[in-house]
Amino acid sequence: MAETSFDVIVIGAGPAGYPCAIRAAQNKLKVACIDEWKNYDGSYAFGGTCLNAGCIPSKALLESSELYHRAQVEFAAHGIRAAGVEIDVATMQKRKAHIVKTSTQGITGLFKSAGVTALQGHGRLLAGHKVEYTAADGTKQELTAKHVVLASGSSPMELKSVPFDGKTVVDSWGALEFTEVPKRLGVIGAGVIGLELGSVWRRLGAEVVVLEAMEQFLFIADQQVAKEALKHFKKQGLDIRLGAKVSGAEHGKGGVTLHYADGAGEKSVTVDKVVVAVGRRPFTTGLLGTDTGIELDERGFIKVDHECRTGATNVWAVGDVVRGPMLAHKGKEEGVVVADLIAGLTAEVNYRTIPSVIYTAPEIAWVGQTEEQVKASGRPYKVGSFPFMASGRARAMEAPAGFAKVIAATDDDEILGVHVIGPMAGELIAEAVLAMEYSASTEDLQRTIHAHPTLSEALHEAALAADKRAIDFPNK
Ligand code: FAD
Ligand code: NAD
Repeated sequence: MAETSFDVIVIGAGPAGYPCAIRAAQNKLKVACIDEWKNYDGSYAFGGTCLNAGCIPSKALLESSELYHRAQVEFAAHGIRAAGVEIDVATMQKRKAHIVKTSTQGITGLFKSAGVTALQGHGRLLAGHKVEYTAADGTKQELTAKHVVLASGSSPMELKSVPFDGKTVVDSWGALEFTEVPKRLGVIGAGVIGLELGSVWRRLGAEVVVLEAMEQFLFIADQQVAKEALKHFKKQGLDIRLGAKVSGAEHGKGGVTLHYADGAGEKSVTVDKVVVAVGRRPFTTGLLGTDTGIELDERGFIKVDHECRTGATNVWAVGDVVRGPMLAHKGKEEGVVVADLIAGLTAEVNYRTIPSVIYTAPEIAWVGQTEEQVKASGRPYKVGSFPFMASGRARAMEAPAGFAKVIAATDDDEILGVHVIGPMAGELIAEAVLAMEYSASTEDLQRTIHAHPTLSEALHEAALAADKRAIDFPNK
């Protein structure tokens, strides 16, 4: 590599790092982005967890498994007889691999067209915002930069009592690579990954037991939504056991026996494969040299202020490696904002309007506060809900489950939170995000024309229901 001096060096090319590098280049800065991600076959790939082992491959399998499920269970209601529907896991995995490859190669192309120097290998921050770059062949080089952005992401948490072995006990990446449908699958953790990947393999025919330590299901979501979700997941055959504290795993000829305790005492369940999905931790292994001035908090996150500045001059950190939700779009926004701040532009991340989506069926999506949070804040509020069973479009789609819910302040009508469980919830929530970004009131949503018949009318009607003015459903 001829060039060793840059305006900005970004370490990590996941959804936080690569947009940061591209935006910095758009801002006419000289940029390098270093990434060490290696796939199971040893090949380097940009895109980080999200593109290689997270968002994209999981959604590819969710889509395939949902289509299989529909063909088997839902087509009949449409008057379509689909006898002998079969799955071919190898083709499903091949399709997924192709989508991943196209996405990660796309980043190489984006770097090229933006003029970002793309470096595959390891980056280590040194004192004085310098970076040591170790290339694939082991050669080391010291690079200088005016600014360094750390975007090293996160890695799965391991349970000491049920350690990964890469074959029977796997992390989320391993669970995306199964070559056949396990007969019995144990999932530890009923969080986002547990529910999404549990759904994939359940729909494809596995008996799925989900062991969740907490008594409360989906504590991060609005509890009315969580209750509705639990009802649907149980109906789909996900055996979700709450308050289950796993104490160990015993490997035997008949599978893996997971031992756990719940309110009723000691229990066990035997399965063929186990996915451990109990959260992720910030990844900083090998990232920081000595005297860099970077501080980690008690959970290992790089400490940053509201603008993602670390304690070290001209060193920034974004994405999963810093506080806040571990979401690709949160990291992307931080990366873009930091690149703009470095260029002297005005920019900020609105942490109050980061949407969350769980890509199960029905989908779950929300933005802003849950009803429990609004209640706890003491601010007087009103709620409007609209069930999808009253939506003509949802009924036409044979997808009438769930509802949209709008929570707003009573005093000034400001929308405080929007929660959707139902068809395409992840797409519908974008309207609520935009509304909240512009501090919209329920009246703004009420007076916005929504096309008919669309699923988005559910949001419209929920906003109307907040003032007991819904048209298509009786007001309570
Ligand atoms: P990462 O994506 O982890 O990227 C960090 C990159 O930095 C990696 O490529 C890593 O190899 C590299 N790196 C680390 N240290 C160094 C170093 N010293 N030198 C060089 N390179 C280094 N989020 C969503 O918003 N929507 C979803 O649908 C979704 N689905 C998910 C499904 C699964 C199964 C998983 C596991 C996660 C999912 N996530 C989802 C979360 C999402 O993947 C993360 O929030 C996101 O990838 C974080 O981006 P990041 O850039 O901070 O880190
Ligand atoms: P999570 O934090 O969403 O859920 C972990 C779950 O495991 C929690 O319910 C927790 O109570 C439970 N748990 C913890 N320790 C346990 C134990 N010992 N036994 C049983 N249960 C235990 O974490 P995750 O599902 O691993 O996902 C990691 C991150 O990836 C999340 O922050 C999430 O935001 C992100 N992600 C996002 C998406 C999406 O946006 N659709 C999809 C997948 C992952």
